[in-house]
Amino acid sequence: SVVMASEKEAALAAIPSDSPTIFDKIISREIPHHVVYEDDNVLAFRDIRPQGPIHILVIPKVKDGLTGLSKAEENHSTSWAAFSTIVINDGPQGCQAVYHIHVHVIGGRQMNWPPG
Ligand code: 5GP
Repeated sequence: SVVMASEKEAALAAIPSDSPTIFDKIISREIPHHVVYEDDNVLAFRDIRPQGPIHILVIPKVKDGLTGLSKAEENHSTSWAAFSTIVINDGPQGCQAVYHIHVHVIGGRQMNWPPG
């Protein structure tokens, strides 16, 4: 596989689609990962390229076909459409590289604003 120099390059190379992603292989345990929290609906695991002392990804395990925040509708199993105050990378310009919706939880250092 191609080694991406940056998250921006990965995002520009990623093609938005409903196809299975690397996160499906994480859910099915085909790819090793460090689980932080798991229940029937949600999996939280450490990001492989942490952008701070703490960098956790939170993803839904339910297969409701939701690839990104901009595809969220009221009828999805998780109310993603209500998460309007949370920053989630969405689409190529938003530096989204994996099209399985996920929340970044980053901490342990001073953050900057605005992002990017
Ligand atoms: P996005 O840019 O799509 O919002 O974020 C995707 C995130 O997934 C990136 O921060 C990237 O480091 C992370 N990631 C990609 N592949 C893997 C993997 O195989 N394992 C883990 N733990 N994280 C990954």
